[in-house]
Parts: sequence; structure tokens; C-alpha cells
Amino acid sequence: MNGDEDTRPAGSALQSRLSRGLVGAARAIADTIVPLLCLNCRLPLGTHDALCAACWRQVRFIRAPLCDRLGTPLPFDGGASGPVVSAAALADPPQWDRARAVAQFGPVVRELIHGFKYGDRHDARRLFGRWLAGAGTELLADADFLVPVPLHRWRLLGRKFNQAQLLAGEISRITHIPVDPFVLERVKSTPSQVGLSEAERRHNLSGAIRIADKARARIDGAKVVLIDDVITTGSTAAACARVLRRAGAERIDVLALAIVTDESRIGV
Ligand SMILES: [Zn+2]
Repeated sequence: MNGDEDTRPAGSALQSRLSRGLVGAARAIADTIVPLLCLNCRLPLGTHDALCAACWRQVRFIRAPLCDRLGTPLPFDGGASGPVVSAAALADPPQWDRARAVAQFGPVVRELIHGFKYGDRHDARRLFGRWLAGAGTELLADADFLVPVPLHRWRLLGRKFNQAQLLAGEISRITHIPVDPFVLERVKSTPSQVGLSEAERRHNLSGAIRIADKARARIDGAKVVLIDDVITTGSTAAACARVLRRAGAERIDVLALAIVTDESRIGV
């Protein structure tokens, strides 16, 4: 008889209904513990790890046309079919090959990153991971590993975690590209870079970052994506890229949540 055939679909339907029910129940419980709120303004929402429409509209996401080297938005599409490079990148080429950032630095992004960095508010992590994996699609396509920009261990003690490493971990969860947090070492505790000129930042950083001896063999010939939260002047990423290049990395790209542009400097 075909009784088996009759019961199997019914059984599996029941099973899937049951598991759907369980998932739904688990989600309902999670929602009562962690209310669904906008990550920025705390407005109630229908979903986790998201921004409300008003906050979303304030984020200046970077989309094409953009400078392939600096990752900054370009005012118009030059009509070229391949990657476009800005005049700024041609005049002063960066140490890295390509850079991408999710958004221009602005009020909403600043609040989100600030909460993530200093407030131990990690609820934006998932959203940041999805944003970074999206913005970095081209860089991540054939990357060998992700290297978070390191914090000096004293600052690490003060803050308990390296935000760049957490971001790299989220990207890795989505892309399965391994994170190598031990490639770069910050050997000099540099004072906070806030408010310093580019020359002062560069002076501060000289000799501050080096390649861990044990990592040298891994770097030689590797395609590396450096991960950071904000590219301000690019001096930290440049210092990292310089030592990676010297160690023989084949390609060094930079992926960050936000980049400070002339436009965002005016707006912040
Ligand atoms: Zn909001």
C-alpha cells in the first residue's frame, strides 16, 4: 500500500509546522527580552538589528560612482567602464590598493559607532557586519584573510575589546573568510589621534605598527583586507598597509564602516 507515501508528507508537514511554531515562539520570547527598536533613535520597529526609515535616510551610504583607490564618492560617473580613480588619489596615491566604506561619516553613523566603541552597545554588530560585507563585495571576493587594525594592548585593556576585530568577525561569519588578528602588532602606544593634523598623526604612527614575526610567512603573496571602523585621514590604515607591503602582501585593500570626506567634515 502507499500508506507510507501518504503519511510521510503529512508527517513532514507537521514537523515543519512544529519547527516553525518553535522558531516563532523563540522569536516571540526574544522580542519580549530584547524589544525591537531602531538601533539609533530607539523607535519601535518590526525587526531586530535595523534602523527606522528616518534614521536610514540620514545615513549617507556610498554607492557608485566612487573612487576605486580612496573609496570616496564621486560627484559624477566619468563614463568609464572600469574602476574610476579620483584626482585626489592620482595626486597622492594611497599606500593600499582599494578602499571601500559603507557610508560617509555623519551624525547617525557617528552615534552608532560611538555606542559600539565606548558604550559596550554591541547590538549594532550584526547590522555593521551586513553593511560591511555588502560594501566590500569586490574586495572580499578573493581575499585570503581579514586583518583588523590593531589596538595597543594598553588601550585594549581600557576598552576590553578591539572594535575592528569584532567587525572582522562579523564579516567572517557572513563570508567565511578567516580573520587573522595576530598579523599586525601595535608596538607603540600612540596618543589619541583626535584633533591632530595629518603630519602629526603620521609622526605619531611611525614605527608604531609592525608585522608579527610569526605572521611573515602568511603575508608573503597574500591578498589582505584591512578592517577598521572609521577612515579619518587614512594615516592608520596607511601605516598598516606600508608594513604589509614590505612583508610581501600581494594586495592590500581597506574596508571600513565610515570614511570622513570633505562633505562629512562640513556636516559633522
Ligand atoms: Zn531611528
